[in-house]
Order: sequence, then structure tokens, then C-alpha cells
Amino acid sequence: MRMAETDHRPTNFIRQIIDKDLANGVHDAIKTRFPPEPNGFLHIGHAKSICLNFGIAQDYAGTCNLRFDDTNPAKEDITFVNSIKEDVKWLGFSWSGEARYSSNYFDQLHGFANELIDKGLAYVDFSPQETMREMRGTLTEPGKNSPYRDTDIETNQREFAKMTAGEYKEGECSLRAKIDMSSPFMCMRDPVIYRVKHAHHHQTGDKWCVYPMYDFTHCISDAIEGITHSLCTLEFQDNRRLYDWVIENISIDCTPRQYEFSRLNLEYTVLSKRRLIQLVEEHHVSGWDDPRMPTVAGLRRRGYTPGAVREFCKRIGVTKMDNMVEMSMLEACIRDDLNANAPRAMAVLDPIKLVIENYPEDSSEILHAPNHPNDESMGTRDISFGREIWIEAEDFRESANKKFKRLVLDKEVRLRNAYVVKANRVEKDEDGKVTTVYCTYDADTLGKDPADGRKVKGVIHWVDAGTAQKAEFRLYDRLFNVPNPAAEEDFTDAINPDSLKVLSGWVEANLAKQVPEVGAWQFERTGYFCLDADSSDDLPVFNRTVGLRDTWAKIGD
Ligand code: ATP
Ligand code: MG
Repeated sequence: MRMAETDHRPTNFIRQIIDKDLANGVHDAIKTRFPPEPNGFLHIGHAKSICLNFGIAQDYAGTCNLRFDDTNPAKEDITFVNSIKEDVKWLGFSWSGEARYSSNYFDQLHGFANELIDKGLAYVDFSPQETMREMRGTLTEPGKNSPYRDTDIETNQREFAKMTAGEYKEGECSLRAKIDMSSPFMCMRDPVIYRVKHAHHHQTGDKWCVYPMYDFTHCISDAIEGITHSLCTLEFQDNRRLYDWVIENISIDCTPRQYEFSRLNLEYTVLSKRRLIQLVEEHHVSGWDDPRMPTVAGLRRRGYTPGAVREFCKRIGVTKMDNMVEMSMLEACIRDDLNANAPRAMAVLDPIKLVIENYPEDSSEILHAPNHPNDESMGTRDISFGREIWIEAEDFRESANKKFKRLVLDKEVRLRNAYVVKANRVEKDEDGKVTTVYCTYDADTLGKDPADGRKVKGVIHWVDAGTAQKAEFRLYDRLFNVPNPAAEEDFTDAINPDSLKVLSGWVEANLAKQVPEVGAWQFERTGYFCLDADSSDDLPVFNRTVGLRDTWAKIGD
């Protein structure tokens, strides 16, 4: 099998920083982490982050942790934890040791919060949330000090203990770091580091009713795990100040550094978890793994290979520049993989019958078809041929000009891997739609041109009607009608109502029982298809992963 991926090592600004850190002896081993919040399935943007973090660990013989950032118990769920683990493994990566949870560190985090209080660097604030928001100031105006800012240390110790013991209601008070209400960075204006939340947690149960905030948790978790390079997306750029402040002000013996890169945006879809959750909850799609979803589970069900996803992440690279990547970039990666590795087969998606009137009745034969036009090692397969076969409705016309290289009444065409046939007459239904084409075949054209030198240019695919397996085909189009749905007032208004087309047709007998190693077939002339989980023995269901050619270029014109 040819590799789906290019094998060169990527270079990017983060790897350059690591190279320098290693050369200067700042570190002698590299430790990264991937820190998903278990409140949804992973999407292709997360795949970028996974390939970056785990890819660095691989290439530098370091390690990468999987750490669930689970400080928000209300929105999190164990289903998401499991799906995330499955997706990371499917992408071909393994995390160091057991999966970790920020909640593993709740005791330590609570201790560090107490340390800040003891040092006079944190205080319990009872201001109503609304007041706190008003006093934060704006980008152009400094904030104002809270009246609780100068509460003495002992009182703060006592109040935080009461918070922890469940003596306060949600929103009644919070613990804030005492930094600088006039900082140009909003995140430094005495950020909340602990809040009251009377919620059951999927890892810690009912042990806690105070939960640490993300900014406080993340840097400390990194330090506890000895992470050297903590990689995140650009919207955390300002928060780096807070990250460094926390690490500097607690007693911990590790100084991880945060570096930011730009998040992936992909045309004609959305990559924000909030929006993906909405698509699922409002049933705009069939679920997180709907093949139209940009989730890892959706891509997998659509027929993407892990190698193609990794190759995509390699091709888009890692920079600090905002970007919007074209869908054709992603599709090119799976097409390259499947073109090389998917065996060919024949399927008729929208069938009409072809009856070969001069073929002996009650007879049939076995023909041989190559599984790949350029790769003999993939071998050949037996396909049966008989008097009645299925062809694609769009491959026949009663009349057509010369550009139409398929079957036309009174003209000839080659049946792929079989004979030359000539169409003689048709049968139509009440609506005038052709249902059957009657033809004759030239028995002396199997694997060779007609003996008298007649030129037959067109080739069409077919399936033997006597042995064919009935099948359902699901053809997908982009999920949204506009390149950047997130910019719409309501992104759901931009959903493409025709993103799924279901067809009923036929495939070669027994095909669905032998799924190839790469997981997909190329159905000649119609695209790459994989078997869907909705399949049954009686009715295999095929998802079209991608068409044979790039159709995105002309869309949108
Ligand atoms: P959202 O903003 O959609 O809620 P998130 O960033 O909060 O997503 P997390 O589960 O916190 O989702 O993300 C885990 C990691 O994946 C983070 O380090 C985050 O920076 C990274 N990540 C998330 N989305 C993208 C993206 N579109 N491109 C690259 N990295 C991403
Ligand atoms: Mg997040």
C-alpha cells in the first residue's frame, strides 16, 4: 500500500523555538499536552492541535499528555471523554501514561489558591456579578478596585474555607487574584480564580462545590505535569500574562511556557463547539458523527482515513496568521490517499435496465476486472455478466451530440471490463422516463476493439442485474451555502437544504462483505465510497466520501 502521507518533518515557528530550547539546554526533554474540554466531540480544528502536540512529542522523542480540561462540570459528560479518547487513538496517537484530568489536581489547585490568599494575593469578593462586571472597566478605561480588595488575610482564609464548605450560594461570592485593576490586559484585572458551583462532577462526584477557573487551572496543571511547551490558539495570547503570573506566585518548581498559534477555520462549515452542539441538539444533522459534520467522528464515518487527516494538518501548517482554509484542501488529501489505495469496483446509483437481446437467454459468464488501473499488485476480481444489466440513467440518451461519450440510441458504447453494445430501442414509463434500453452486443469485443476497425470511444459502468446487490447510496454536499456561516446573523439560516441526497441502486455481488484495508472503494466514475454503520446484510449503505474530481472550484461562482 502506498502511504497516504508525505514523510517529511514539518517545520514551523514552534518547532524552531523547541530546537533553540534544546540547543541552549533550556530543556533536555520535550513534554506537550492536548487539553480538550469534554463538552463535545473533537473536530478537524482539534485534529490540527492533536497533530501539532503529539507530532512534536513523536519527532523529538518526547511525550504528550491527554488532559481533560474538566473545570466546568455542568456542560461535561463522560460520553465526550470516551469519544475524545477514541478519536485521538484513531488519529494514530498515544498519550503518555493514563489520560489525565484537571480534576485530578483539584486538591493541589485548592492548596495553591490558599497559598495566594496567605500571601495577600487573592481575596473573596462578595460584590454582585453585575457590579463586578461594571467595575472591570473597558479596553479604554481602567477598572475600579472592589471594596473587598483590601479584606485582611485571615478573613479571606475564613471566607474561602466557608465557600469550600458549601456555605454560600452560586454567584454569592468568588475568589479573585489580586493583580492590577488598571492593567491594559483585561484578564489581569483581578480575575476570578475560584467560583461556587453546586454541581455533580463526572470525575470527583459531589466532593467539591467550588471549582477553579480555566486560566488558574490550566497553567498549574501544565506545571504539575512538567509540560515544557504549552501550545494553544491565539485567543489566549493576552491570557499568557495571567498564566505567567500564577506560575510565578505559587510554590511550584516548573516553568512551562505558553505559545499561541492560529486556529483552523474551514470554509462552508463551522468549527466552534457551541455551534456544533446546536447542530446536533436541534437535529440539523443526525448526530455528532453525521458524515457532513467536520468532527473527527463525522470524517471517519464519511470514509476519511487517519492518514489523510494527518496529511491535511501537515499541509495547512502552523502559523500565527488568521486563515480560512478551502474545503478542497481537505478533500485533496483523502482523494490522494484513496486514488492510490482504494480498489475499484462498479456500482450503479440511479439505475435503468439494459437488456442485451442477442445474448443467450438463461446464460451468464464470469469476466475479470482489474482492482486498480495502475497497481497490478491489487489483483483482479471476478464479475458476472448476463443478458440483463443495470446502467446509470444519466449514461443513456435517446439523442445527443458528439460530446456525449456514453450510450445513445443507434450508437455504440463499451461496457467497462466487458463488451461493446449498441442501443436499439427503449421502453418508457407513464411519465416518459426511460426504464429499459434494448440493445445488441458484439461478442467479439471482450478486451479488444471491434474487428472491422469501428471506433467506440465511450465507456460506461454497469452491474449484472442477475447477481447484483441492492444498495443505498448517500451523496453529501457542503453543509452550508456560504463560505463563512459563522459570520451570518443566524448561522442555521445558511444550512444547505440539499446537503444529503439518498439514492437506491445496485453494487457488484458480495462487494460489501469484503471491506478493503483502506476502508473504501472507488466506484468507477462516481466517486469514493465507504460502508456506513446503518448497513444491513440485505441493504448495504454507502457514503460517498468524495467525488473523483474537485468540484469545489466551480461552486460559489
Ligand atoms: P471552542 O472554542 O469551539 O469551544 P475550544 O478551543 O474551547 O473550542 P477545547 O476542547 O478547549 O475547545 O480545545 C482543545 C484544544 O484544541 C485547545 O488547545 C484549543 O486551542 C485547540 N483547538 C480548538 N479549536 C481549534 C481550531 N479550530 N484550530 C486549532 N486548534 C484548536
Ligand atoms: Mg477551550
